Amino acid sequence: MRRNILLNPGPATTSAGVKEAMVVPDICPREREFGDLVDGIRNDLVAMAHGGEDYVAILFGASGTGGVEAAITSAVPLGRKLLVVVNGAYGARMADIAKVFKIDLLTYRIGPDTCPDPAEIRELLLGNPDVSHMAIVHHETTSGLLNPVSELAELAHEFGVETIVDAMSSFPVIDPDIRALGADYLISSSNKCIQGMPGVVFVLVRKSSFAKLEPRRRSFYFDLVAQHEGFNQTHQMPFTPPVQVLYAFRRAIDEYFQESEPSRRQRYLANWEMLYSGMIGLGFKPYLPYFRESKILFSLFEPDAPGYSFDGMHDYLYRRGFTIYPGKVADTRTFRLAVIGDLHETDIRAFLTEMANYLRENGIELK
Ligand SMILES: *Cc1c(COP(=O)(O)O)cnc(C)c1O
Repeated sequence: MRRNILLNPGPATTSAGVKEAMVVPDICPREREFGDLVDGIRNDLVAMAHGGEDYVAILFGASGTGGVEAAITSAVPLGRKLLVVVNGAYGARMADIAKVFKIDLLTYRIGPDTCPDPAEIRELLLGNPDVSHMAIVHHETTSGLLNPVSELAELAHEFGVETIVDAMSSFPVIDPDIRALGADYLISSSNKCIQGMPGVVFVLVRKSSFAKLEPRRRSFYFDLVAQHEGFNQTHQMPFTPPVQVLYAFRRAIDEYFQESEPSRRQRYLANWEMLYSGMIGLGFKPYLPYFRESKILFSLFEPDAPGYSFDGMHDYLYRRGFTIYPGKVADTRTFRLAVIGDLHETDIRAFLTEMANYLRENGIELK
């Protein structure tokens, strides 16, 4: 099978082992054998987060946004308020979810290249004692910016406010230790840094927070209590799970532990540094100041050079097996490159060679 190199921020390039793990004998997901598979995945996700006995993992068959919706709609008690930190499209999406469900909302909106000011968050919490939860994106995949979650979580906890952390594109590569991060709810999916297939999202929930939930506060399907207790009572996911995707997820988790937490982090960092310095060497300009970069993804300004077009560049690279991604920063022309997935030094080097070829063949001068 042709191996494509995906530099988009998930779904990611998967290993041959993960792809092959999807081809399994048909099985009814109500069988004990399948329940054991799901149970093992649940336990390993808590272990990946260093959650010890304090957390549970709740799985849904859905894309990442389904898990964010489940966390928000399940966690915020009726009549209480959600504070959402917005410095990118994924923060804005959390606020949009709250709006759809008519959850009282306090939005703290700042520029996509800046981080929240703890003093301003403190003011908001002081002035709004009805806030029960603070939602924040860990790694804003819009830009590549890393939010200081642990610091803000500590502040929220001072006020008895629980945290909902969208760690979709960072877990478990950045700050995998959920207690150190200070997340009471953490959402991530099968198809980003765990390098599985798309189709499974999970919410890691602190047991003491879970104990406060009431079933089906707002949603029938995306309900943390119904999903978790349903599984615990029957050893089955309440609704049809993506069976083959879960086999691939099992394999991806095994490969993660085989590679080890520090080695995966190191591989991503090394790929990022090589890609970032390579692109800058070619004359591209980064969107964020270096110290804000997550080092999992970065945004670059689209050049103004004659002969350049994003589509032209995309199509040239795509034909050669490399996928790049348009930008998502509002009002600014950017594009993005991520190192999420089963990518290695040789892939990054090959990509940089093709990028140089694209510029040269089209007579594009960046410097
Ligand atoms: C990928 C991603 C999501 C989820 O997107 P889906 O398309 O629903 O999988 C949510 N938040 C962040 C920060 C992401 O990177």
